[in-house]
Amino acid sequence: MRYPARPGQAPRDGADKQARWPDNPGVDWSRVIVHADMDAFYAAVEVLDDPSLRGKPVLIGHTGGRGVVATASYEARRYGIHSAMPMATALRRCPDPIIRPPRMARYSEVSRVIMGVFRSFSPTIQPLSIDEAFLDCTETATAHPGPHELGAAIKAAVRAATGLTVSVGVAETRFVAKVASDFRKPDGLTVVGPGEARAFLAPQSVSRLWGAGPRTVERLHALGLKTIADVAAADPTALAASLGSAGRHFHRLAHAQDDRPVVTERRMRSLSTERTLAEDIVGAEAVRPHLERQAEEVARRLRQGELLAGGVRVKLKTHRFQVTSRQLVLDAPTDEAAVLLAAAERLLAAFELGEPLRLVGVGTFQLSRRGDQAQLLLPLEDP
Ligand SMILES: [Mg+2]
Repeated sequence: MRYPARPGQAPRDGADKQARWPDNPGVDWSRVIVHADMDAFYAAVEVLDDPSLRGKPVLIGHTGGRGVVATASYEARRYGIHSAMPMATALRRCPDPIIRPPRMARYSEVSRVIMGVFRSFSPTIQPLSIDEAFLDCTETATAHPGPHELGAAIKAAVRAATGLTVSVGVAETRFVAKVASDFRKPDGLTVVGPGEARAFLAPQSVSRLWGAGPRTVERLHALGLKTIADVAAADPTALAASLGSAGRHFHRLAHAQDDRPVVTERRMRSLSTERTLAEDIVGAEAVRPHLERQAEEVARRLRQGELLAGGVRVKLKTHRFQVTSRQLVLDAPTDEAAVLLAAAERLLAAFELGEPLRLVGVGTFQLSRRGDQAQLLLPLEDP
């Protein structure tokens, strides 16, 4: 068995997926969803590998003209620096930070250890990125006395395996678990039990609503809605009138309704690379060398992760920030740069390339573990 089960614990049958904790038998959890998110991951790995950086403002990213901050240590965040901020802005806010270029190979290596730890708590994990994942622990959680103990055990296991801290949220839904993991970051643990979710969400900003970007937040503010409680109390028809179908989605989230399942990685995962160019480029000939370099990088990362890609995607962003992408499914999964590049070049031919471009990206999707190919025959969605 891949996850800790209590001796003598009977296998749960499919009809009763509810979790009842040994220490709190009166409270049934409809599901036990964990969201685990590493704290300032890239920066934390750099500090781990070079302890002289501890306690200092560390920025991970490139310093070129259009470089952005990939991750800022918590010391750097005190200066108002956050990820995705242009490096030039960050340098104005914090005059003397330590800047390190990203070492993706090293982060991927640590990520594999972390995901392995998560998998030891549940076979159903869904990585959202290199450093965060959902775990559906409904069937495995009651190996622990209660939800706090489950969360603490995950945190302790990650720390023991990597020396790094992770923030954990435990709730009945993915949305609430995700908000909970962020609630006491860094090194946080927040449990939101049955019946507590709406009160937990109520005072939080509408920007916490999953999928609410800056424009949505603006619209919600324009409707006079500042907190999630405001959205919960709003008329769903009015929300839909202003935000379309997303309005109903946000209304449901505000009521802590989110029945989306945790979907295991091989169905969802993608791996991609993209680069904002130092100068805009025009035309296919100028794009090709970037495709080549990125196909090689993606292939290398696939091999490092012992993964094969079933599809390839090319993404371009114009100087006016218009993003277009095209994708195709490969005849056979691969980790070979030449195959990825050939597919990327076919896709490139389908773009209109009249405008100057500021970003080129090559991505892969439908990833599978090498030696696990039979799994590709599974249906793409959970039944
Ligand atoms: Mg993180």
